[in-house]
Amino acid sequence: MATTKRDYYVVLGVERTATAEEIKKAYRKLAVKHHPDKNPGDKSAEEKFKELGEAYEVLSNPDKRSAYDRFGHQAFAPGGMGGAGMGGMHDPFEIFREVFGGGGRGGGIFGNFFDEAFGQEGGERGGRGRGSDLRYDMRITFEEAARGVEREIEIVKLQACDTCHGSGAEPGAKITSCPTCGGHGQVAVTRGFFNIAQTCPRCRGAGQTIEKPCHACHGEGRVEKKAKIKIKIPAGVEDGTRLRSSGQGEGGVRGGPPGDLYVVLHVEAHDIFEREGTDLFCNVPISFAKAALGGEVRVPTLDGSAVLKVPVGTPSGKVFRLRGKGLPEVHGRVVGDLHVKLYVEVPTKLNLDQKHKLQIFAESCDETTNPEESSFFRKAKDFFK
Ligand SMILES: [Zn+2]
Ligand SMILES: [Zn+2]
Repeated sequence: MATTKRDYYVVLGVERTATAEEIKKAYRKLAVKHHPDKNPGDKSAEEKFKELGEAYEVLSNPDKRSAYDRFGHQAFAPGGMGGAGMGGMHDPFEIFREVFGGGGRGGGIFGNFFDEAFGQEGGERGGRGRGSDLRYDMRITFEEAARGVEREIEIVKLQACDTCHGSGAEPGAKITSCPTCGGHGQVAVTRGFFNIAQTCPRCRGAGQTIEKPCHACHGEGRVEKKAKIKIKIPAGVEDGTRLRSSGQGEGGVRGGPPGDLYVVLHVEAHDIFEREGTDLFCNVPISFAKAALGGEVRVPTLDGSAVLKVPVGTPSGKVFRLRGKGLPEVHGRVVGDLHVKLYVEVPTKLNLDQKHKLQIFAESCDETTNPEESSFFRKAKDFFK
């Protein structure tokens, strides 16, 4: 079968003389870009990702690389010149995990990214044939973030196949222990001086081989299906909060454990309120007269409004704190405060009568009416000589 395969050096975009480090770097960059999780439903990305894994697998291994340099793709063809002892190609996802340091920790495809980026507790979350973690971006309003909300989302993801119930075997077909790994799901691979346990390339970790693969899922044990998932968003979440929905990611291969679903929240800005942690801030304008004479002002809060007493002679910019009118801490007992900043609005459109009255008022003023102004000009008088 003459399949056209691209040159591995071209695939990775490196020179034939590239060092191991350069090859790894090129793979890292391209594999992240073409990872199927980042390009859902894009078949060409999937192909590219596979191709990259293959190219990297060969060029990162000195023996395989020298065989490839001498014989080209022929080296790895079944019964090819360098084929003996080379073994089959590995799962591209396995290679990806290994390069990104996830080999020892297992985890979903992006498990390690998430772990690193969000400080997730590590631990052994992997195991055989675990499904990928998924990410879902969700927009919610400021109020929904403050009060909490329950949303139902619909996503298309790989889930256990109904026909074979996830086993990957055609109903009635025989399932036997995998001869390559003896049912363990893992094989020992030599890398340099080390022996590393790796997911068995033949059964992809399932530990079993199937006499006749299920026609509905081609033996993978999972198919793409729509799923409705309820997402409970607790009160007090912030923009960028990531919620983990355990086991709601992609289904595992042949009954393996499912991945997790990560919902990343994008909280819309509010017209009136700004937020810092659990505290809310809002600016409320009041008239000059009210600031001087005192009175009351209605201020908005997340649950309706509150009446704020304005003391006589309130300066512009004065902040009043309304305790417990902020936001709750997520899953906590603390509730923040609402900080209301009053500022004096200077009238810009006065009618003749108002101007006249204001002039009379101004003429009645003396040093005690505006003590700050008076004191300032006393101090600054030397500058006006
Ligand atoms: Zn099936
Ligand atoms: Zn196996």
